Amino acid sequence: MTDRLTATCQCGAVRLSLPATAAGVLACHCSDCQKLHGNFNAFLAAPKAEIVLEGAEALVWYQSSAEARRAFCGTCGARVLKEVTPAGRWLVSAGLIDGPTGRGILRNLWEQSKPDWYDLPRVTPHDTPPA
Ligand SMILES: [Zn+2]
Ligand SMILES: [Zn+2]
Repeated sequence: MTDRLTATCQCGAVRLSLPATAAGVLACHCSDCQKLHGNFNAFLAAPKAEIVLEGAEALVWYQSSAEARRAFCGTCGARVLKEVTPAGRWLVSAGLIDGPTGRGILRNLWEQSKPDWYDLPRVTPHDTPPA
């Protein structure tokens, strides 16, 4: 494994790299994530300062709540990231990661908001240090 994970949107306009120490994979089942992703949101989290973003001009930002905004690719529509405003953390959609991650789902969030049409994904123990 390298010390960085890379991520790209479906059309390739947006490219990111994040530290291999990024937390996750976390699965959020809240109603905002359901509406925006069409499903639960699986993501990795790292401090914004540790994420390298290329193609920032392709991103469209949306204020999804008082404390968070989200960015999607204006060309292909891929949900790229969520920015948690006070903490300065970026949550990068796990589906954008290129190649194997060596990870499983670390934790489910907002389980009480999960719709009735799927079961919670299985949590898999792994060694990723919490961020
Ligand atoms: Zn794209
Ligand atoms: Zn959520």
